[in-house]
Amino acid sequence: MIPRKPSRNQSRSQSRSQSEKQTKAYFTDPMALLERLNLTPKEMFFSPEAVEEFRFKVPKAYVNKIQPGKPNDPLLLQVFPVQQELESVPGYIKDPLAEADSLYQPGLLQKYDGRALLLVTPGCAINCRYCFRRHFSYANKSPYDDKGHLWEQLKKNIQLIKQDSTLTEIILSGGDPLSLSDARFAELITLLESVPHLKRLRIHSRFPIVEPERISDELLDILLNSRFQIIMVLHINHAQEIGPDSKAGIEKLRKKQIILLNQSVLLKGVNDNVGILTQLSEKLIENHIIPYYLHMLDHVQGSAHFEVSDSDAIQIHQQLRAVLPGYMLPRLVREVAGEKSKLPVSD
Ligand code: SF4
Repeated sequence: MIPRKPSRNQSRSQSRSQSEKQTKAYFTDPMALLERLNLTPKEMFFSPEAVEEFRFKVPKAYVNKIQPGKPNDPLLLQVFPVQQELESVPGYIKDPLAEADSLYQPGLLQKYDGRALLLVTPGCAINCRYCFRRHFSYANKSPYDDKGHLWEQLKKNIQLIKQDSTLTEIILSGGDPLSLSDARFAELITLLESVPHLKRLRIHSRFPIVEPERISDELLDILLNSRFQIIMVLHINHAQEIGPDSKAGIEKLRKKQIILLNQSVLLKGVNDNVGILTQLSEKLIENHIIPYYLHMLDHVQGSAHFEVSDSDAIQIHQQLRAVLPGYMLPRLVREVAGEKSKLPVSD
């Protein structure tokens, strides 16, 4: 599987300064977050064991959007480790999309024709408790631990992409590809640009929303100077996630002609409500982001408490259709292991 051990040559001092930077920008201790939000472990059903299963990490910029004293805040529910994660629920497994079977080699997946997916880093800005990759072998690693190893693997993967001229689009995923430093990200783009048959680059990222400071001028220059058409797929589940800081980051991306799409996951207690999803679509369009997909939850072990049944999802989607113009209605879809595309759940 993807990472083995941290690169031997990785500079320890560099790692230290990066993790210090991280400590300033992130909450990595759930108790500290509770103290900040004036909540108790008991009322949040906190589970330290759940943190051992999948590490806890929330950017402070995201925490600023959580309402203190509100245990059922929709942003808090997405990130807080709870006892229900430890329950064993039939059908909920570690690799629900059988991604291990789609791996060409570590870090390179091909699920769909014409497109390949590169896992470029184990790092994410935020750890979402429902993430379908929460059990991927790298999921509990520090964003910086395995960077060296993944980087070497990445170069091998680009060699493989060069040999397949049917590929026209690369999807950068992870983790979150924007966890890479600007220098590494620029190097990656240059390497990909050397593959003549590639036309488009799709970047899946939660950074513009959860840690908007990442959208630096340097990053924007890298994107602007690329020969690729760039599509950024954001992941926003609730209108409350789009604060003034995220709006500014999104606006910068938009001004660089980057196509912005959004995918949400339908999550019980977070956004399984017509009013909330309507508000989300309104806010997305207001910010020039196309509501693209509304995903059914992937059945990953530890996330069953977020499940919305098919019948409820279809009903919500039908109600949404009645109140939203077509271009604001995300497609309700499910990803099924081995299928060549996402499957519609409701027409
Ligand atoms: S940002 Fe995406 S990849 Fe990272 S934990 Fe959240 S859902 Fe998973």
